[in-house]
Amino acid sequence: MPLFEYECTDCEHREELLLPFSEYTPQRKCVSCGGSACRVWAPPHLDTDTVFMAGHGTLADQLGGDDEAARVATAAKKQGYTPGYNDVYCPTMASKVGDPAAFITPGDGKQHIRDLCEKRGMSCYGRVEHKPSERPPKPKVRLSEKFIRRRTKELIKQDPGLASKPKQELREQLIETHAFR
Ligand SMILES: [Zn+2]
Repeated sequence: MPLFEYECTDCEHREELLLPFSEYTPQRKCVSCGGSACRVWAPPHLDTDTVFMAGHGTLADQLGGDDEAARVATAAKKQGYTPGYNDVYCPTMASKVGDPAAFITPGDGKQHIRDLCEKRGMSCYGRVEHKPSERPPKPKVRLSEKFIRRRTKELIKQDPGLASKPKQELREQLIETHAFR
């Protein structure tokens, strides 16, 4: 089962949950205050394409068994993608079970993650450097003012150069990044 991380937009409580995809929702009730917690997307850490692709084994190895591999492969086929023998399935990037976008082929490698982050308006860093350059999809989750103010401060702390950017621009970037579904 994949690990999902949620952060409460009211009280900032963070929670990590191992969930089957059938129970995954982009928002959950916060266990701490009863407010609304949004999923925090976690792009995978990558090295070179070769290192990244190596050692994952078959889909069954990755998912812990033939039954689960068959379930994911069947779901992927229904969505128009037939997983290859050497694909790496990346559950943290799947929007639902068998999401074709979550399969990384040896030919695509890191570029696939970069493209996916771009499409979703996410940034990612590490061996894959990516900053969203196009306008990401419209947000569907409401974020509280408190959450937006706190994250804006954090962003400026990480990158003081952002302080000179128009506040509204930072704010929109933040809403779009966090509220993506
Ligand atoms: Zn809370």
